Amino acid sequence: MRRHVVDEMIGEETIAARVAALAAEIDAHFADTEKLVVIGLLRGAFVFVADLARKLTVPVEIDFLEASSYGNATESSREVRVLKDLRAGIEGCDVLLVEDIVDTGHTLSAVLALLRARGPARLETCALLDKPSRREVALTPRWVGFEIPDAFVVGYGIDYAQRHRNRPAIGTVRFID
Ligand code: 5GP
Repeated sequence: MRRHVVDEMIGEETIAARVAALAAEIDAHFADTEKLVVIGLLRGAFVFVADLARKLTVPVEIDFLEASSYGNATESSREVRVLKDLRAGIEGCDVLLVEDIVDTGHTLSAVLALLRARGPARLETCALLDKPSRREVALTPRWVGFEIPDAFVVGYGIDYAQRHRNRPAIGTVRFID
């Protein structure tokens, strides 16, 4: 791992306020749901899912999916390899897919296609961070926590070489060697 420092970009209180506001919007959107299946994309979304889910008041079930996208970066769509699948089927269910960061959009687009094929009733997406300047696939999550510039970020579940996931705030990595 290269020597680096982390400069804070989005503080704990700012994140908490935004998560609460997102939860209120999601609650309103799914107000009539019998059950909302919240699917967190591992590993980066685990902290966000935990905080967001605790602010939701609609009936919620929580599941996780771990996927890695691969393929030629110049292709418009990439394959997704499922490393850990959902525990339960989602046919006929209302589903909220929760992602840490949407960067090029390949991961989210591939995971959405995979989930859509399983026949959910409603399928929406919520991303904590969005880097629209990096997008290669035309795709906009329904809810976004924060739009950020093209920088490598860590914290609040997001890692650099598996480090920093436990940092309470989001920061940018600056290399010092
Ligand atoms: P995409 O398929 O949209 O290009 O990539 C999304 C995934 O790339 C995210 O779920 C995340 O795992 C990773 N990623 C994108 N930007 C960053 C970043 O700034 N920091 C870290 N740690 N991962 C990122």
